Amino acid sequence: MIDLHCHSTVSDGRLSPAEVVRLAHQNGCTLLALTDHDHTGGLAEARAEAAALGLRFVSGVEISVTWHGNTVHIVGLDFDEGNAALQNLLAAVRQGRLKRLEAIAAKLEKKGIVGAYEGALALAANPEMVSRTHVADFLIQQGHVRNKQQAFTKYLGDGKSCAVPHQWAELADCVAAINGAGGLAVVAHPMRYGFSATAKRRLFEEFKALGGAGIEVHSGSCSKNDSLNYALLAERYGLLASAGSDFHRPGDFSGGILGACPELPKGCRPVWEHFKAV
Ligand code: AMP
Ligand code: MN
Ligand code: MN
Ligand code: MN
Repeated sequence: MIDLHCHSTVSDGRLSPAEVVRLAHQNGCTLLALTDHDHTGGLAEARAEAAALGLRFVSGVEISVTWHGNTVHIVGLDFDEGNAALQNLLAAVRQGRLKRLEAIAAKLEKKGIVGAYEGALALAANPEMVSRTHVADFLIQQGHVRNKQQAFTKYLGDGKSCAVPHQWAELADCVAAINGAGGLAVVAHPMRYGFSATAKRRLFEEFKALGGAGIEVHSGSCSKNDSLNYALLAERYGLLASAGSDFHRPGDFSGGILGACPELPKGCRPVWEHFKAV
């Protein structure tokens, strides 16, 4: 039972790192990575809890990248989080979230929704990591939308009325930083970008040429058919296969069940077979 993609209060998840590990363990997980957005601050706590429970744990992070104008997420796995170059890259990526929040709040205010800046910050355990998820929570709290999905389709999703384009890390720098820290780089939830076949080919070829290791063949609540398709693409582009729930909070079914991803399709080469021995 494996899960190599989930979030805690260090980024936009609802549970503390230790709580994430405990719930994954309860769900039968035997190998876990915590992958907060652009931040490794939860890893020490999660690792200690996993050790106490006898659950195998590897380091993880989900890095925000801008690739040809699109936001793409790259998961780093099994790296040394003490690596200075990686930490410098993450610090640079985190910068600018507050400025972006200001711009999003200004756009919401033009729609008659006031207080999003303070409101989102009040809901973020880690202000440096304030995200669109926290803005969505504020919109739900204030009764402007019914749920997270509606917050994104109405206001916050890429290209929607209150979205603010943002420049994240370069793909090349991101992969180099993960590899430089001894880790493996994986394209997160490739089925969620809405890319054409051509864009996928470009992304996977470029990623592989830069030293990328794999792609998520299973993510969250993706369909079995998605998994089969991305298993074939992984094979075609010589990439390993990863699996992650993208869990953010209990009761949110857009993420999968924490700690318990379905088995990969036959023929996949699992990324975890390349993890350093513990
Ligand atoms: P940010 O890093 O601040 O741009 O926020 C991105 C986060 O918002 C993602 O990690 C998801 O948790 C969430 N998110 C992005 N797009 C959607 C969507 N269409 N529906 C639901 N959640 C989304
Ligand atoms: Mn998130
Ligand atoms: Mn993501
Ligand atoms: Mn994620």
